[in-house]
Amino acid sequence: MTFQDLKLNTPLYNALDDLGFTNPTPIQAEAFNVVASGSDVVGIAQTGTGKTFAYMLPILRGLKYSEQESPRVLVMVPTRELVVQVVDEIEKLAKYINVRVLGVYGGVNINAQKRAVAEGIDIIVATPGRLYDLAVSRVLQLKTIQKLVIDEVDVMLDLGFRHQLINIFDILPERRQNIMFSATMTEDVDALINDFFIAPKRVSIAVSGTPLENIDQHKYAVPNFYTKLNLLKEILKDTETFNKVLIFVGFKKMADRLFDALDENFHDELCVIHSNKTQNYRLRSIEQFRAGDNRILVATDVMARGLDIDNVSHVINFDTPNFPENYMHRIGRTGRAEREGKSILFYTEKEQEALERIEGLMQMTIPEIEFPENVAISTDLLEEERPQILERNNPLKLRDEDAPGSAFHEKKEKNSKENLGGSYKFKIAAKYKKPKTRGDKNYNKRNKK
Ligand code: AMP
Repeated sequence: MTFQDLKLNTPLYNALDDLGFTNPTPIQAEAFNVVASGSDVVGIAQTGTGKTFAYMLPILRGLKYSEQESPRVLVMVPTRELVVQVVDEIEKLAKYINVRVLGVYGGVNINAQKRAVAEGIDIIVATPGRLYDLAVSRVLQLKTIQKLVIDEVDVMLDLGFRHQLINIFDILPERRQNIMFSATMTEDVDALINDFFIAPKRVSIAVSGTPLENIDQHKYAVPNFYTKLNLLKEILKDTETFNKVLIFVGFKKMADRLFDALDENFHDELCVIHSNKTQNYRLRSIEQFRAGDNRILVATDVMARGLDIDNVSHVINFDTPNFPENYMHRIGRTGRAEREGKSILFYTEKEQEALERIEGLMQMTIPEIEFPENVAISTDLLEEERPQILERNNPLKLRDEDAPGSAFHEKKEKNSKENLGGSYKFKIAAKYKKPKTRGDKNYNKRNKK
């Protein structure tokens, strides 16, 4: 396929010629018509696949010349570096188009950005915090936005921007096209899609279910976290074989927990990256691991993607990822450049289904290694591993108030109310004989009679 097949226009063809690009990348070919159709789109693609042009080509082709001051296209990205990079890409592509592009991000003086906004823009590329500040200052009008792009959603949510995103959705017009790109599917991304997108079309470069042949995969059935820890420690003792080990976990809380638990035995050899660590900390960890100063790196899926580190001897999946694509990305961190790579997966009974999805995608069964006899099986359980349902008629049953099971997790009565919206608010207002919220203008009217 060439760009000629995409029915672009002359200014775009000329810009692509200048760049020396003749063929769309797979995600560009896949996304073009879907984005152009105007429906909501969820694209799964990693950095480096040409994803920026995948959404910008159809947007720029459809964007008419306008002198309107407020923007029609909003691109949100998680970091200032990405703002700069995306603006740069758009400018290259829009070289022969009369379109005003502006990048805004936090950490710098807002006034210069306010002035730039006031001059009039078509496309704004922004980090969520600064965008929101500009919008509430009323300099930036967002009611004219027709297309919203959220790039690197997984990173955005991992950095804790969910609330900021929702605040921004609130001030955008309801009728708009939502376009979202993410490198990994996570539970958080999935939830955001379900909550805010209307029948989104999914585009992705099919994650190959065929793992590289040079990656040797194995799995262990392990009953729980503490036993996984015992097994991991045993494995890591062999410093010669396990000389550069990348350990994956799904969540940052688990990354911290594992890091703390390994610290006692492997203090000098250990580093960690996840999104609650500062950018400097993350870069330092990666560098120490890359250089071989630290033998072991604990990482979350979102933060470790795109990590291009040579000679990783082993990838250890401390947990079993829910989305099989994530497993493919994880094991792809080893066995790079034709070298032999090794991957080990720990799975519990609860993770069995996720394991089956992974094996289904690869159409192979990962060979199992018998649990080593010299490793202690722990009966200690993490809070979340404990059974949630108490046995009935158990003579040893704890009194309800001491029980750690389901009752413990039950919401307190006062918290268990559903969100009843207005009527509940009114009931409270009536009960306390005054409006609970200052802005309830109808309160007096309702209570006059
Ligand atoms: P991205 O995934 O958007 O970060 O893009 C990665 C790099 O690929 C950028 O430097 C783009 O300029 C470049 N690129 C985008 N589309 C193409 C294409 N069709 N052919 C060659 N390079 C491309």
